[in-house]
Amino acid sequence: MAIRKIATLGDPVLRVPARDLTVDELKSPKWQSFIDDLIETMQDADGAGLAAPQVFESVRIAVIEVKGNNPRYPYKPPIALTVIVNPKITAVGNETFDNYEGCLSVPDMRGLLKRHAHIRVQYLDREGRAHDVEKKGVTAGTFQHECDHLDGKIFVDHVTDPSTFSTWKNWERHHRARFVEQITKVVAQYGE
Ligand code: ZN
Repeated sequence: MAIRKIATLGDPVLRVPARDLTVDELKSPKWQSFIDDLIETMQDADGAGLAAPQVFESVRIAVIEVKGNNPRYPYKPPIALTVIVNPKITAVGNETFDNYEGCLSVPDMRGLLKRHAHIRVQYLDREGRAHDVEKKGVTAGTFQHECDHLDGKIFVDHVTDPSTFSTWKNWERHHRARFVEQITKVVAQYGE
């Protein structure tokens, strides 16, 4: 296992749509050990998720995990470690919520954007088994953020009001209290 270097905003690898993996490829030692690296890199950086293009591999794999007390996102409900391969996201209904997001590839910046509040996610796990699940609320936002990376998109693309961009220090100082109050209601409403 190894901690990989994380690509930052402006690196072309973040803008290329990633390719699907075949189940045979996925089961190979190369990609299994890559998944271990992706998990280790996410955990080392205190990320809530990490997508393969963020570590310079243009394939459709992402990992998501939120532990109870993530220092970057203390208000996020826990998500058990999930490996998603070749995911497809479909919005269920048209409810949205406001999310203040950050990204390991966009150092020291957060911005406000809208996410679907209810989605369907179809994906393969690391063993190649198919899953078809629904996610809601803040957890749904995390899945949308990571899957965006696989399409060459970054959260900044969805920020409609650039005046909401904030360094993490200024976010803590000026935006955190109001956002946490609002997002706590989202978590209560959707249960995740
Ligand atoms: Zn990201």
